[in-house]
Amino acid sequence: MTDLFFPAAPVITAPVRGATKRYPVRRIFCVGRNYEAHAKEMGVAVDREAPFWFTKASEDYVPSGSTVAYPPGTGNYHYEMELVVAIGRAGFRIPASAALDHVFGYACGLDMTRRDLQLTAREQRRPWDLGKDFEQSAVLAEIVPASEIGHLTQGRIELRVNGQTRQTSDLQLLIHRVPELIAHLSSFYHLQAGDLIYTGTPEGVGPVVAGDRIQGSVEGLGDIELEIGAAE
Ligand code: MN
Repeated sequence: MTDLFFPAAPVITAPVRGATKRYPVRRIFCVGRNYEAHAKEMGVAVDREAPFWFTKASEDYVPSGSTVAYPPGTGNYHYEMELVVAIGRAGFRIPASAALDHVFGYACGLDMTRRDLQLTAREQRRPWDLGKDFEQSAVLAEIVPASEIGHLTQGRIELRVNGQTRQTSDLQLLIHRVPELIAHLSSFYHLQAGDLIYTGTPEGVGPVVAGDRIQGSVEGLGDIELEIGAAE
């Protein structure tokens, strides 16, 4: 049996620190408004009851260190620095108390956003896909196994543009923390190894333009870099 348009889309994989085997990227789940100060700067209230979710296609993945073209259809292209959780074990209706057993590792991520399109969609009560789910919008640094660094519950998260600090916060300020995120998400989806969770960005989001260089970091985890090229 063969498929139309052979060869089929390649399996998308991301590097793992200290390993030759790579991590296959399956689904990309993202949390909205998971730091109070960011919700405030977006002009919306925090929902403490439960997180809310949007997704990106795995084809949106782009590795740290890349240069990406300024994306089409936007005049307000934003960075969002985030801690990313890489699921390593399948599970459904996972209790928060067991959630960390399903974590393979962690990585620095950038949830790149066409903010103008996202906000228009928000005002019109339409889905966010054009604002969030676009090519090269899910930037990911190497995944660091939890077996090496443990589980991250605190530590500085920051982002600089051209050397100037724009975002700085602490993982302690996550409203919905990693075990609760996994418990909530797995009540709606059968999580599988390869699923990624972008856990939300702190305050200080803003635009970048062609020629800008983004550098982010999470304490105890590592760095991420992205360069913005000219529009196509
Ligand atoms: Mn985000």
